[in-house]
Amino acid sequence: MKVHFLGTGAGLPSKFRHTQSTILELNPIKQEYWLFDACEAVQHQILHTNIKLSKLTRIFITHLHGDHIFGLPGLLTSRSFQGGEGKLLTIYGPKGIKTFIEMTLNVSGSHLNYPIEVIELSENEFNTAIDGIQIKALLLDHGIDSYGYRIEFPETIGNIIQEKLENKQIYPGPIYQLFKSQEYVDYNGELLRTKDFRTDNIPGKIIVFFGDTKPCNNELILVSNADIVIHECTYLDGPLDLSHKYYHTHIQDIIALNSQSNVKQFLLNHISNRYLEEEIEVLKNKIQVENPELNFQLVNDFESYEI
Ligand SMILES: [Zn+2]
Ligand SMILES: [Zn+2]
Repeated sequence: MKVHFLGTGAGLPSKFRHTQSTILELNPIKQEYWLFDACEAVQHQILHTNIKLSKLTRIFITHLHGDHIFGLPGLLTSRSFQGGEGKLLTIYGPKGIKTFIEMTLNVSGSHLNYPIEVIELSENEFNTAIDGIQIKALLLDHGIDSYGYRIEFPETIGNIIQEKLENKQIYPGPIYQLFKSQEYVDYNGELLRTKDFRTDNIPGKIIVFFGDTKPCNNELILVSNADIVIHECTYLDGPLDLSHKYYHTHIQDIIALNSQSNVKQFLLNHISNRYLEEEIEVLKNKIQVENPELNFQLVNDFESYEI
């Protein structure tokens, strides 16, 4: 799987950063893309990648601030002409997202040639499952309703230990598949427990996509055991209270979150455009030297990360 960053800036775009949009490529688990937030010109950003709108099946909106949704109407209408015809698109987002979509499409006289299903979140917590993939959304603290989405993939069955099977005179062939798909295999009258001939199951990856927020308790639940946490980090330096006053995250909050959790890697986006690009590199190095235990990247538009 891969995460593609299409927009990594905060509220205002800069020459180098669009506002907020990230795509999860689910291949090889599913031949689908899931989009998290839709910045202005997100469809233009997608044109610079290999991502196909026809394979975009789900959109998760964290909150209704313009830097996260103003690209949505254009994206929806273009999908009609880019292979999306007849293919259901499901959109999740806080209360109000349905009105936003209906209103912008109606006022502009736009028609979609595919069905959309809009699921509005209004409680502290939302849970759903898609083909065994668990999705949990929890409310954050951003002045308006803003959600973080935790995507938890199912574990996969362990690998066959050929040596063990060969010790039983069972050699490679179609029967090996039974040792992956069944609990027991009857081999020449002997009932073999297949789990004894496989490595331990491989845990599924956990990826968390955050909406804008200042620190809050739900963050710890969302990031528990996560492999990748994609988190806003509007403030890379300066006073902590200023970032909290604007309901945003400061790098010190990420350092604190890291120390209270067991996250493998943070990918930090939503970076304020008050930082020049060369300044960001200097700050990144400084943060890394001062916090060697923090595994993080400050991500840029068009970067992709393998999961
Ligand atoms: Zn924002
Ligand atoms: Zn916001």
